[in-house]
Amino acid sequence: MSSLSSIRRGAALAVGAILAVLLATTVAAGPISPRHAHGSFVDASGATIGSIRLTEDGHGVVHLKVKVEGLAPGLHGIHIHAVGSCSPTFAAAGGHYNPFGHEHGLDNPNGPHAGDLPNLVVNVRGHGRLHATTDRVSLTAGPATLFDADGSAVIIHANPDDQVTNVGNGGSGARIACAVILPGR
Ligand code: ZN
Repeated sequence: MSSLSSIRRGAALAVGAILAVLLATTVAAGPISPRHAHGSFVDASGATIGSIRLTEDGHGVVHLKVKVEGLAPGLHGIHIHAVGSCSPTFAAAGGHYNPFGHEHGLDNPNGPHAGDLPNLVVNVRGHGRLHATTDRVSLTAGPATLFDADGSAVIIHANPDDQVTNVGNGGSGARIACAVILPGR
């Protein structure tokens, strides 16, 4: 091997290494695009009362699983809210996530908000479960991603959601639990 080709090879390796570093930096700095997300529900006293897990499948459908304890039996409104914050009060989560400017309620002909969900069912022992799917939001990048600039949260309300009344968000009332949605399992 001549010294000239050795120098060229060394230069090529160095350029390749620099490109690899640039590529890695670009990927790391890109938007968060997870396939899984999760959160922990806290009540107004700050106690953890349950969890939510979200998975986006290959068809862009998001599967939600909510599991909570210690709530009043019956139906409770539950929604994805626009801001990923639960403090200093649950008001920090903002309104229902609504990137397309629709009205509230799964049964509203002018709705729903992207963040609207079926009611959470809490049994006589205070255990709440909701398994739901939605294609109105995404975990991966897109116009209704939950990982937009200010993130997203999920709020459980004191009362049932009638799924149709726009003003007052279906009558679901006070915010009794909140979970910030975080990327990953
Ligand atoms: Zn709504």
